[in-house]
Amino acid sequence: MNIHEFQSKQLFMQYGIPVPDGKPADNAEHAVDVIKQLGGDGWVVKAQVHAGGRGKAGGVKLAKNSDEAAGYTEDMIGRRLITQQTDAAGLPVNQVLIERTYPIARELYLSLLIDRSSERLIFIASAAGGMDIETVAHETPERIRAIKINPITGLQAHQCRTLGYCLGLKGAQHKMLANIMQGMYRLFLEKDASQIEINPLIITETGELMALDAKINFDDNALALHPDIQAMKDPTQEDARENEAQQFGLNYITLDGNIGCMVNGAGLAMATMDLVKLKGGKPSNFLDVGGGTNVEKVCEAFKLILSDTNAKAVLVNIFGGIVKCDVIAQGILEAIKQVHVTIPVVVRLEGTNVDEGRELLSNTGLNLYASEDLSHAAEKVVALAGGAV
Ligand code: GDP
Ligand code: MN
Repeated sequence: MNIHEFQSKQLFMQYGIPVPDGKPADNAEHAVDVIKQLGGDGWVVKAQVHAGGRGKAGGVKLAKNSDEAAGYTEDMIGRRLITQQTDAAGLPVNQVLIERTYPIARELYLSLLIDRSSERLIFIASAAGGMDIETVAHETPERIRAIKINPITGLQAHQCRTLGYCLGLKGAQHKMLANIMQGMYRLFLEKDASQIEINPLIITETGELMALDAKINFDDNALALHPDIQAMKDPTQEDARENEAQQFGLNYITLDGNIGCMVNGAGLAMATMDLVKLKGGKPSNFLDVGGGTNVEKVCEAFKLILSDTNAKAVLVNIFGGIVKCDVIAQGILEAIKQVHVTIPVVVRLEGTNVDEGRELLSNTGLNLYASEDLSHAAEKVVALAGGAV
């Protein structure tokens, strides 16, 4: 799960990581209030969306007075912000973060994530902050330094000093960096994060270190343990269909093809998508309806698939293990009638009571094709969707 920058910064404060003074605002009037409360002589207005690359996309604006800040707030709120990290539709801006600005001497990069190959947490740092770190890694890999943390000993003081020297820190700045790294490490473990990124971590002209940006991702599988993090969820920043699917216990991911896929089991769903591609087609979604499929779930699954108007045909691939094929067939027929599915549906059933299931699906008068063989089913659905792409 992703959260907004202002929420990440609230967590940073709890863990002793210095951030600029700031507050979120959801309209221009509120922005003027916030500036009065913050004081200072310069501010930045930052669009709050679950994506980076805002700076280059006009989502970060410097304001010299509260009129300017109010103007930028007005401009940003209610719009969708499109950045390099969003899709073409962008993400809605419902609030901005207003912060005091500080003269910047240098911009650094610091993140903490999981290195899956070594099975350790790893700090990544670079003196080339503020830019896209993938570009730095690609063009000047020598400017990036990584440090792996042994889970038994935890983060060591010498590791912080090593990164500090790489970043060209001086004197008291080493202590500041060590505090920030310890804070990130504790936050990561205590809240079950999967990534914490500070880009840029700035050195102010007075020599202070401060997190100017903050991005935290959390492990969805651990969210049940963290109601405080769960409460930070913002569904407006997520795919509407994927949210809806979650409510019905369906595992759905929007894709950009034209063949809807409804499958039970994630592995079978992936194999099905591979086969559709092999036959020249392109899936419009990934959908695992899970075990214990019933009419309600199949109905919801059809609704989700059809709400994507790119879907021109549907392939249903269900293995009747615990659930019997005739029950599934009945569910499919019921769902097609209830949801008024008019595009062609190819069904491949296999497993317990498969003959009864196929019998039910034949001669229905619906735009429905029962198939005995998965390979044939994939060919059929590609043809019905208008042929190979
Ligand atoms: P991102 O583009 O979504 O990663 O947003 P950031 O928060 O990283 O902001 C992008 C860039 O805007 C930063 O790298 C800074 O150069 C600049 N910026 C952001 N906040 C401030 C600020 O308070 N003062 C100044 N001078 N520049 C800022
Ligand atoms: Mn950034």
